Amino acid sequence: MAGKNALIVFAHQEKTSFNSALKDAAVESLKKTGWDVTVSDLYEMKFNAVLSRDDIIGNPKNPNHFNYAFETMEALEEGRLSKDIIAEQNKLRSADLVIFQFPLYWLGMPAIMKGWLERVFTQGFAYTLQNIYDNGLFKNKKALLSLTTGGSSTMYSPQGINGDINVMLWPLQNGILHFCGFQVLSPQIFWSPEGSSNKARTKMIELWKARLENISQEDPIHFVPTAMFDMSAKGGFQLKKEVQKSNTNEHYGLSVGQHLGKGIPPNNQYRSEK
Ligand SMILES: Cc1cc2nc3c(=O)[nH]c(=O)nc-3n(C[C@H](O)[C@H](O)[C@H](O)COP(=O)(O)OP(=O)(O)OC[C@H]3O[C@@H](n4cnc5c(N)ncnc54)[C@H](O)[C@@H]3O)c2cc1C
Repeated sequence: MAGKNALIVFAHQEKTSFNSALKDAAVESLKKTGWDVTVSDLYEMKFNAVLSRDDIIGNPKNPNHFNYAFETMEALEEGRLSKDIIAEQNKLRSADLVIFQFPLYWLGMPAIMKGWLERVFTQGFAYTLQNIYDNGLFKNKKALLSLTTGGSSTMYSPQGINGDINVMLWPLQNGILHFCGFQVLSPQIFWSPEGSSNKARTKMIELWKARLENISQEDPIHFVPTAMFDMSAKGGFQLKKEVQKSNTNEHYGLSVGQHLGKGIPPNNQYRSEK
């Protein structure tokens, strides 16, 4: 990794929470190994997670029909984006690694973090219609989801009652992070801290710190390369015919999303050995 600037986007209301301890552990571990660390503590900042016309300064280009993606793209170019969005975008610009620390809420991230993504990842800043996936604007940055769950790991196995964790991770890791070009590192999942002993939780924090000490050396998880798709409207942005054909005799599809009607490759979004 070229630079050593880390941004931790943190979402938990409670300073005595396990998530808060994980955030503090990450700051400590990264700083120890020479990283500059910035934290966006979203609840502490009372970050406004709701998209509105107030996100641009001045008059909209079309006041009769406010198209958020278009209006914020124009405002970005003209320096008319709301100050709180610009402040977060500046933090992202200088970040080489972005860690999202959050408790799993309804199989996703807390609304305040989703709202941060919706408002900060504006068109023209986080993506353009030409710059997506392997060609995404954040292709020189790494990102990592660090999350806690209420449920156990077995509940999130392919046989478990909540369903395969890989399916849950796909929209966040592929749909948001990889879409914007990030190299996505294997997520750090803390299974059911509330159902664990204090000793087990302390161990979880130690392992997290140890992982972060060597995070620069980690390779990202694999996504199907954009070159394998026919990136034309005519081709429907689908896997090239020859790629589909070459998978005919395989037991599994290519990914959680590109499963080709077959089984999802095990641990496609998550390296269980981590
Ligand atoms: C709205 C909502 C939706 C939810 N949806 C889901 C869902 O879809 N799926 C799911 O699985 N779960 C879900 N949950 C559960 C949620 O994911 C867990 O409650 C959360 O992940 C636990 O993390 P925490 O930081 O809040 O834990 P905490 O309750 O803050 O901490 C757990 C324990 O760790 C202790 N602790 C704190 N600091 C330390 C430390 N330094 N060392 C050791 N121990 C420490 C605390 O004292 C506590 O005993 C949901 C919860 C809510 C509120």
